Amino acid sequence: MVSLVLHYRRIARLALDVLLGAVETDPATAHVPVERAEGPDALVAVIRRHAATGRRPVVGWSFYSASFPEVAAELARVRAGTAGLDALHVAGGPHASADPEGTLAAGFDLAAIGEGEATLPALLAAVAEGRAPGTVPGLAWREGDRVRTSGRAAPVDLDAVPPCAPRAGRIGPLEITRGCVWACRFCQTPFLFRARFRHRSLESVRRWVRFHARLDARDVRFLTPSALSWGSPGAGCDLEAIEALLATAREEAGPARRLFFGSFPSELRPEHVSERALALVRRYCDNDAVIVGAQSGSERLLAEMGRGHGVEDVRRAVALARDAGFTVSVDFVFGLPGETGDDRADTRALLRELADGGARVHAHAFMPLPGTPWEAAGPGRIDPETGALLDRLASRGRAHGQWKRQQRLGFSAGKGDPSESL
Ligand code: SF4
Repeated sequence: MVSLVLHYRRIARLALDVLLGAVETDPATAHVPVERAEGPDALVAVIRRHAATGRRPVVGWSFYSASFPEVAAELARVRAGTAGLDALHVAGGPHASADPEGTLAAGFDLAAIGEGEATLPALLAAVAEGRAPGTVPGLAWREGDRVRTSGRAAPVDLDAVPPCAPRAGRIGPLEITRGCVWACRFCQTPFLFRARFRHRSLESVRRWVRFHARLDARDVRFLTPSALSWGSPGAGCDLEAIEALLATAREEAGPARRLFFGSFPSELRPEHVSERALALVRRYCDNDAVIVGAQSGSERLLAEMGRGHGVEDVRRAVALARDAGFTVSVDFVFGLPGETGDDRADTRALLRELADGGARVHAHAFMPLPGTPWEAAGPGRIDPETGALLDRLASRGRAHGQWKRQQRLGFSAGKGDPSESL
């Protein structure tokens, strides 16, 4: 007998809800008892309770690379509190997928490689039947000193899985696109989900927005790596498709609910921003703010990281959005590998220009993520002049973000000393 315990951490809530939805709606696992736990102490209590019923708890974790040291410490606490109990700890998410060996070394029994919607129900069924987890595709485990793997899980069809946990009534941003056709060298998305788009169909979007409305959700948001890419197979932008998407979502959401598009977590690529696209957002949606991904003010660095747009695209997008009455937040990553003094000067000039024009800078420090082309690079070092500018902009309300924390986290992962950069 098996049960599922999901360790809810704030940042992984959505991923775990989607996995819970997959388990709830798979006929093979719909009957499996599931419980959520928040924090190591609660998790220990739940594992003990489930083990006492004679079931083998499969404990699901999901996390990003930035949380990995914290998660590893939590797992050690949970292991200590459940010694002697036969729980199976399985790690999913971008970090486990990109670095299964490191994840197993931290104490997990299994690391999920690739998307988890098929893997988790199949694992629960295997444990219930007494089969070895290695019979399930998409897992890695240790055998003695060796790491064995059953390969990478096949990409899921978004229409075949719920974007939430319907039976539990747990909803979040509705995922409309997975994967990304760009391959920015710092980003895990294309390497984790493949470098092509998989869009949820319009009918599936309709069905799940209607479900959100039935649950009386106040807001409907979308999750996508590039909002204006929905409906396009490649790098283009199909505004007929976008209008159909937004009109359908508005119809199902009704006038009482707020609809968000182009704001977190569905930002806009700068070259897609146009007067017509912004007019569609204005017509159908409720957000007064949009997020534009820029990442750098250096043409050289934009080309180097494979962004697929230039600095002028950013200027134009921000101006158009501002003229259309939106508050604009612009994403930047600082301390990128190979960043030169000239690159930094170009970026600072763009920051000043955008901030003077009323935009807000959303600042990130570069963190080398496993599975990306820049995984072996050192963590981002924000140079003093750029750091001081960000502080000044933040004091005027023109910059926000976690750049200082990210810089510390990058270095606390053992790749350097943050004092060198400040
Ligand atoms: S940063 Fe955005 S555009 Fe670039 S690969 Fe990642 S998801 Fe795609």
